[in-house]
Amino acid sequence: MSPRLSLIVSFFSLSCFSPKHSKMRVEAVRDDSGAGTDASPALVSLSSKNRGTSQFWRSLHKVKHLFKWGAIYKAKGGRNVGFWDDVWIGTTPLRIQFPHLHKMSSFPLARASEYWKDGDWSIDFRRSLTISERASWEELEKSLPTSLVDDECDEVVWALDRTKVFSTKSLYSFLSNRGVCVKESDNIWKTKVPLKIKFFLWQIENDRLPTASALKKRGWQGSHLCCLCGRKEDVNHVLFRCSMARFIWCGVREALAGKNIPTSWEDWRGLQLVNEFKLPKCFTMFLFSGLAWALWKTHNKMAIEHIYPTQAMQVLHLGVSFMQKWRPLLKASDQEKMKEVVDRLKHWAMNFCPSVACVSDIEEI
Ligand SMILES: [Zn+2]
Repeated sequence: MSPRLSLIVSFFSLSCFSPKHSKMRVEAVRDDSGAGTDASPALVSLSSKNRGTSQFWRSLHKVKHLFKWGAIYKAKGGRNVGFWDDVWIGTTPLRIQFPHLHKMSSFPLARASEYWKDGDWSIDFRRSLTISERASWEELEKSLPTSLVDDECDEVVWALDRTKVFSTKSLYSFLSNRGVCVKESDNIWKTKVPLKIKFFLWQIENDRLPTASALKKRGWQGSHLCCLCGRKEDVNHVLFRCSMARFIWCGVREALAGKNIPTSWEDWRGLQLVNEFKLPKCFTMFLFSGLAWALWKTHNKMAIEHIYPTQAMQVLHLGVSFMQKWRPLLKASDQEKMKEVVDRLKHWAMNFCPSVACVSDIEEI
């Protein structure tokens, strides 16, 4: 997880959105630089120019715009609501709904409360309105709330989740897919594996795994070739096409009586392979998680520490051990079914004559 994303997820999870409430009041968050002793609502602080001195606060300012993408405001006092920029009337900001009026506004960054004067809406424009602009203004005025209450806290709900409650999944989904629901991504987050493995799957899905090829593109000085077979190292190579990976998938094919082995992530996700191994889709992702995590860890150990497994079967055993460790995360009924799958893999491994199999033999399979 990038530091920025991690930060915003932590902040919004812990500070702003309580899972117990579908709607929340924005609570006071203090600038940890110590600036200001009055209780200041989070969004006031976030929208302030005062960046403070701490790394936390400076980093938060860098990602605060992400919050705007999913927040819908209900103006009570209007102090935390950007009149033109925030979503609080309808489903888009007013600057999108009324672009001409926004352009003519004297204070395009004004808060809603700044336009509420003496019990009425009063917006300063840079020139007099034309007839059509006047009609737009009247239309806008009709959509505005009939009153604001001084010192009343504004409310905010999270638009990127059906429940209106902030969730890391909805933010990740929006950041990675711009709000388009990708069914496979959805399956990743539903897979019953530890969070770091879900993120590993997300990296695979989005081609973000730090393989040698990916690092090379970012200016890394090392080789972009696989430390085991010398071919270009990318996600599909490490997890499907390298000799070690092919050995693992051949083992899965044999153990589960399949016909083919996957050659890419897209291949594995395909329905054809789900039918191939006659497993429910949630199990295939669970199975993949254990084996892929074992392959990735082993590959890194070879590339970074130059420690090679003496037998390729060790990687399969490692993958099986991960699945056994994560099995309690499954529903009770699924745990038994998964045990059968794991037992079939173990049985195949036990009968493979491990004493004569070594990494150098794998190319022959
Ligand atoms: Zn390789």
